Amino acid sequence: MEGEGPHVGYSTLFVRFARCDLRCNWCDTPQTWKAPQRCRFETGRGEQTFRELTNPVTVKTVLEAADALEVERHHFVSFTGGEPLLQPEAVRTLAIALKKRGPKIHLETHGAAPEGLAKVIDVVDVVSMDWKFSSDVKWAKDAAHGTDANLADLSEESLRIARKAPDVYVKAVLTPNTSDEELDDMCARIVAQDERTPVVLQPVSAHGKVPETLDPQRLMAHLRRVEERLKVVRIIPQTHKTYGAL
Ligand code: SF4
Repeated sequence: MEGEGPHVGYSTLFVRFARCDLRCNWCDTPQTWKAPQRCRFETGRGEQTFRELTNPVTVKTVLEAADALEVERHHFVSFTGGEPLLQPEAVRTLAIALKKRGPKIHLETHGAAPEGLAKVIDVVDVVSMDWKFSSDVKWAKDAAHGTDANLADLSEESLRIARKAPDVYVKAVLTPNTSDEELDDMCARIVAQDERTPVVLQPVSAHGKVPETLDPQRLMAHLRRVEERLKVVRIIPQTHKTYGAL
């Protein structure tokens, strides 16, 4: 089940990719940062039962697992991670094969991999693009872009590419560290492309190095600030724990 953003609640089959080159303070999937030796496949739809296989797995294995979970009965297949766009060839191959089975392809990306996005954008139906703020997000030590690359510049470039998809929205996770300057910079860069780009403000779920969520008054102040600059803005918290998902 999709647990975040404007498509929350739609039946969704998730394909989780290993590896990520960012380190977000609130990350709830640090096990994906490096490719693990083994990976899990759900074996019964919604039953929370799994089998393990040795990594890496083939595209054929992923497709067989998706068929066993009746992928054709899902509204979306979501590519998530980690960061799927560190493996754009696999995203592309899987997206083409899974689209033929019926669901729309939903891509979650951290917004800092525009080169990978350009390689898959024509086979994706929805881009859920994070806008990362450097107050809470750093590069991994071995990141391909280096550890000084400007996150906002990469987000801006990613959005330019993402807008070629039929459906795109920007998601900004707000924490007690998020500053007005970061929000203003995000808004200015989005307005320069299209002030009607949908933006989801997601109050952080307390996790990892973020022990508490955002004070409600601060959250509403952030909403007002972004609404003054952009036309389509919503606050949507995470809901996936309601479904017993990661
Ligand atoms: S981009 Fe996603 S997977 Fe990577 S550290 Fe941030 S929250 Fe975790």
